[in-house]
Amino acid sequence: MTATDQHAPSTATSGLSPESVAYRAALEVVAGVEPRIAEAIRAELADQRESLKLIASENYASPATLLAMGNWFSDKYAEGTIGRRFYAGCKNVDTVEALAAEHARELFGAPYAYAQPHSGIDANLVAFWAVLAARVEAPALEKLGARLVNDLTEADWEELRHELGNQRMLGMSLDAGGHLTHGFRPNISGKMFQQRSYGTDPETGLLDYDELRRTAHEFKPLILVGGYSAYPRLVNFRIMREIADEVGATLHVDMAHFAGLVAGKVVTGDFDPVPHAHIVTTTTHKSLRGPRGGLVLAQEELAPQVDRGCPMVLGGPLPHVMAAKAVALAEARQPSFQDYAQRIVDNARALAEGLQRRGARLVTDGTDNHLVLLDVSSYGITGRQAEAALLESGIVTNRNAIPRDPNGNWFTTGIRVGTPALTTRGLGTAEMDVIADLMHTVLSGTTQGTGKDGAVSKAKHVLDPKVSDAVAQRASDLLSGFPLYPSIDLG
Ligand code: PLP
Repeated sequence: MTATDQHAPSTATSGLSPESVAYRAALEVVAGVEPRIAEAIRAELADQRESLKLIASENYASPATLLAMGNWFSDKYAEGTIGRRFYAGCKNVDTVEALAAEHARELFGAPYAYAQPHSGIDANLVAFWAVLAARVEAPALEKLGARLVNDLTEADWEELRHELGNQRMLGMSLDAGGHLTHGFRPNISGKMFQQRSYGTDPETGLLDYDELRRTAHEFKPLILVGGYSAYPRLVNFRIMREIADEVGATLHVDMAHFAGLVAGKVVTGDFDPVPHAHIVTTTTHKSLRGPRGGLVLAQEELAPQVDRGCPMVLGGPLPHVMAAKAVALAEARQPSFQDYAQRIVDNARALAEGLQRRGARLVTDGTDNHLVLLDVSSYGITGRQAEAALLESGIVTNRNAIPRDPNGNWFTTGIRVGTPALTTRGLGTAEMDVIADLMHTVLSGTTQGTGKDGAVSKAKHVLDPKVSDAVAQRASDLLSGFPLYPSIDLG
């Protein structure tokens, strides 16, 4: 979806593209009720157009995907599953959900797909409870000769409830790039499961499969979680499945970050989680470039349990978002998406090399996927200071912990950058080198600031405004060659 493909304007008799006509009319209708919201929508497009977005988890969905969301499907309640709803009048919702699931199955080669989760966190909860239901609840019911939990006595139910809440999860540690929902205490997953984590090799920064195997054998988790938010390399899911089988764990892979690379067939074989994992979850809005939402892919045997997602842990489905998921997944099945996915990876590599050539230190010494994790300690600043200095210079990134981070999870020592969004805009490897130069200019010009008490503050930075202004101007000049949503002219 570059300026030359899906974002290209189609013609309309008014001389305006259909997208421009649609959005102008929509904003006029919204402004008739609450003009400030119409104004905010316009302002958001202007802001997004001007921002050099390197947030690894964000992207730009196509106008077709966005338009599929803004309609009366939002008015429908559709609790239940396709063809088995608790509400009447769901035949069109059935069409939408079936299409979203079909595109997901075909795209990823998965036996089963569930399109209802409202987000990645929700998709993970559906997956966790599907595994708990299949591996803890179902055998207990069978042993007690009951079909449903409602058939149990109060005492048997109490015992089962405690057993459901007394299981183990093994996930990647946060500072190695894991996600909060993989069993960490601030998230519900950490309150549901006893958790242990695996990490990366202190020398190479690469995932340490031997340590993972040792920990799995010792801890014997019910669920082994693979997947990450900030690990710049590919993960070998064949090895992870071997480990899961050795200890009797269910392998759940959360591919939220790299689903677009799997969809685009850049990540294949041992590194594609779908053939190896029992259950896979993803968001639809990151590298997959769809609407905000989640998906669960599962092996057949877990399908009935996954289907219980709503009302078990999810609120009523969002049919308008499922419609947009179906559109985005259909886009991802086009050959041009494979080209897009390859360009994401090429761009990440070019950005990494550009930064390294200028002396930056990268966690794992490079990247194989869509993201780069920069260790900013060599610039003498914290991640928080780097993030603020870059933002001031028109470059949007986020700070991130690095393995064994001396500054902790709040101030951090890392900056995470990703290329899915800028690749959608059409920027290529030459532009990545310019961006590396802009980032290096800002980071090497930034020093630590002081707080009110005169002491050095991990939160404050100093950057000559002449530098930040010059970089912001260069960033803006760069972006002007790659208009965002070129088919949309709001007038
Ligand atoms: N899983 C992973 C690996 C993520 O990186 C994220 C988001 O950052 C999520 C889950 C949560 O996704 P959402 O924000 O859609 O709930």
